[in-house]
Amino acid sequence: MKELKQIINECKVLSFDLNFTRAKQWKEEKPGRVIVGYMPIYFPREVIHAAGGMAVGMFGGGDRKQIIKGDAYYQSYICHIPRSVMELALDKQMDHFDGFIFPSICDVIRNLSGIFKQHKFGKFVKYMDFPQNFLPQIGGVFYQQEMEHVMHYIKEINGVEVTPEKLNNSIALYNKNRKLISEIYDIRQDYPWRLTMEDVYHIVRAGTVIPVEEHNEILEQVLVHIRQNIGSPQDKVKVVVSGAFCEQPAVGLIKAIEEAGCYVVDDDYMLGSRMILGDIDATSNKPLEAISNAYIKQSQYSSSIYDVSNPKEYRLAKIVENRGANGVIFASASFCDPSLLDAPIFQNAFNRLGIRYIAFQFSENINQFKVIKEQVGAFSDSIKLWENEPAVINKA
Ligand code: SF4
Repeated sequence: MKELKQIINECKVLSFDLNFTRAKQWKEEKPGRVIVGYMPIYFPREVIHAAGGMAVGMFGGGDRKQIIKGDAYYQSYICHIPRSVMELALDKQMDHFDGFIFPSICDVIRNLSGIFKQHKFGKFVKYMDFPQNFLPQIGGVFYQQEMEHVMHYIKEINGVEVTPEKLNNSIALYNKNRKLISEIYDIRQDYPWRLTMEDVYHIVRAGTVIPVEEHNEILEQVLVHIRQNIGSPQDKVKVVVSGAFCEQPAVGLIKAIEEAGCYVVDDDYMLGSRMILGDIDATSNKPLEAISNAYIKQSQYSSSIYDVSNPKEYRLAKIVENRGANGVIFASASFCDPSLLDAPIFQNAFNRLGIRYIAFQFSENINQFKVIKEQVGAFSDSIKLWENEPAVINKA
């Protein structure tokens, strides 16, 4: 078995390999394999796996990719991730991708799908509408049709017919993946010093660019290490980070939050990999329906979901309580409408509930976080000085 440090170093390389080398190798190993890129937040990767493909996350270039051409496509008051994804495409770093999926989160992603179509990137470009109606017979059926479109596109490339057996096998693999990631978070809830948030980020992000079978092996090895009593606790408060579900903060910022006196015990950085809570039924003779039902009934809270009967502010408050966190850090990408429009809803609720929070904005390519670090440091100090207890939700 590998040392934990070696595993983390390999994940660091994988997660920021902007040439997607492992995916390319995987495709070349066997005829008929296809690679399909997907934007955040979430796409049911099981569908692509069952069709003989590999879903690869497109989370932008972060602070590793200089934007020259991508800026020409977007005005200044738009977030950064579409520019870096364009830059990667224009620089032919995704030339081995067969198709691209753009989940419906916001107008920026919708427009990016149009630009990809105009440029004829890949063999197909799919703007994927997710249901906002949570009735299985309406929104659920619509969602199944959307997944069938994707399977149809892939079949036109490789001729693979997806059977219920294949899909159930893929669902089981991703169930395992989600379960292993969830165990890492559960261990960190009590022992966050065993693995830094920066390490968790690299480990989970690596899973978006390699085969799920390989990622499951990595996660199993990580767990063997962190089930041991390693590391030593530091004087830090526990926080939950929310709002960074699409454009990703630079790794330096993820690290700076913990260096400034916080243990991040939950977050939504790589929300898509953790979107479904619990298992999807892997035994159904209608597996698309099982995936659809899981999205409707078992999704994590998200700014991309308007589920009026299950308000997201109370779901986030519940996470804070369950994780024993002392507060929340709202981190939104600059100009990210879904995140920034939700912020007042969360913050008004948290004022009522008595949950401490701070809020700031970031951009994926900005690597100067002195002000944010000071803000987080002051937040953590204020909790340590005046309220060194986990948040207790004031139900009054
Ligand atoms: S960062 Fe926000 S606004 Fe930008 S593409 Fe993502 S969800 Fe849309």
